[in-house]
Amino acid sequence: MLDIRFEKTKQPKEKPADSVLGFGRYFSDHMFVMDYDKAHGWHDARIVPFANLSIHPASTVLHYGSEIFEGLKAYRIADGSIQLFRPEENIKRMNNSAERLCLPQLDPEFALYSLKEFVKTEADWVPHSEGTSLYLRPFMFGNDEHLGVHSVDHATYMIIASPSGSYYKEGINPVKIMIESEDVRAVRGGTGYAKCGGNYAASNRAGAKAEEKGYSQVLWLDGVHRKYIEEVGAMNVMFKISGEIVTPALSGSILPGITRKSCIEVLKDKGYKVSERLISVDEIRQAMKEGTLEEAWGTGTAAVVSPIGKLMYEDMEYIVNGQKIGPVTQMLYDTLTGIQFGRLPDPYGWIVKIQ
Ligand SMILES: *Cc1c(COP(=O)(O)O)cnc(C)c1O
Repeated sequence: MLDIRFEKTKQPKEKPADSVLGFGRYFSDHMFVMDYDKAHGWHDARIVPFANLSIHPASTVLHYGSEIFEGLKAYRIADGSIQLFRPEENIKRMNNSAERLCLPQLDPEFALYSLKEFVKTEADWVPHSEGTSLYLRPFMFGNDEHLGVHSVDHATYMIIASPSGSYYKEGINPVKIMIESEDVRAVRGGTGYAKCGGNYAASNRAGAKAEEKGYSQVLWLDGVHRKYIEEVGAMNVMFKISGEIVTPALSGSILPGITRKSCIEVLKDKGYKVSERLISVDEIRQAMKEGTLEEAWGTGTAAVVSPIGKLMYEDMEYIVNGQKIGPVTQMLYDTLTGIQFGRLPDPYGWIVKIQ
């Protein structure tokens, strides 16, 4: 395995108070970096002071969008120790994303080792208050220094860390979601299943439109029929209809969320019937009209679960569960955050201890 060179910062930053953290605004003292080229593979793994990068103006990522990323959290538990939630899943997904974008593969064992070493270095940056965590952002980009269009020969992999506040400081408020019927996020054969920056760039227009109308996120429909539910912004989506949990099947255009997968495992474990299948927007509209849509929620690392209180489609607005969080949504939130913060036992073997 590669050695990791360590250069300690000479100017440690002052840590922000837990109460002002928010999301992705503050960064820790160091960053993990390693470089790749075709001749040498991955090399020069290092943890160095957090600083701006110097990038060639012709760098691939700046022109052709060769970029992928991951998102996970380091949690501080009651005894002061630090742990991760299913980090192997993030590494596996990063390699799937890399394959799709012709970026180099990571050695999964080294990727986990370097992630843990980095979190150990930044341990003091894992905040202590209830619900807070250190958000970890591994990412990789193509970094060839010429403008020819081709798969990349040079790449950079990095991890940065951002102390993040509790997503639900003011309690779990259901969100308002707009179903988008013009723009599409992804199609089968495209990059929908890869966690790549380009997917987000293409989503921004619909997101801005939704925000203008007072909705916080977009619910995407499939790109072919504009009829089947895909996912919400940066979250997968689940519905409870007449007692059954339904969620769109992973078709290639949907991001395979680790929170989604974990929710499905918890739900099945607790005896719920869960179907991964095609869900048409008409089925949801019908269920809303008939009152059989009992709960709707998004799933993702940032919020864990996010109840949906209002859904807008073709200028009609529908209220879900009286705009209150439902019992299944609440159970999923309590179970997953319970395991993540060490308040509940981990019967699934999802936790990886740091120190
Ligand atoms: C990251 C992401 C999700 C959620 O994935 P998790 O692994 O649960 O955090 C869902 N949809 C999109 C588009 C994403 O980028």
